[in-house]
Amino acid sequence: MLKILNVKSKHRTELIDITAEINQIIKESGIKSGVCYLYVPHTTAGITINEGADPSVKRDIITTLNRLIPFEGNYHHTEGNSAAHIKSSIVGVSVTILIEEGRLLMGTWQSIFFCEFDGPRSRKVFLKII
Ligand code: ZN
Repeated sequence: MLKILNVKSKHRTELIDITAEINQIIKESGIKSGVCYLYVPHTTAGITINEGADPSVKRDIITTLNRLIPFEGNYHHTEGNSAAHIKSSIVGVSVTILIEEGRLLMGTWQSIFFCEFDGPRSRKVFLKII
């Protein structure tokens, strides 16, 4: 079963917690035990799992990525968004999570973040629930 989650970013660089939306889609699917594969079909965005309880963590991730990969640099790509492409490759565009008892099997402090690196934009996340 393929589902698409639409995500609207509001900032140039932003981590958006999509855990509740993904859990809702799994609940609606009726699947109690399986695998959820999430894939971001964009070259300037990504997806990652990290702490969602303390918002300072996502702020630190954004700040550090922006420091390591500055927006302006000695880049060749003429579109002007090379930093976003590099961040997408470093963070990655897919995650796989187990489903048990109709929910994502994740740690207490873990959340799934859609990572916007060239916003604001309308984006998609593909979900395959097996
Ligand atoms: Zn580009």
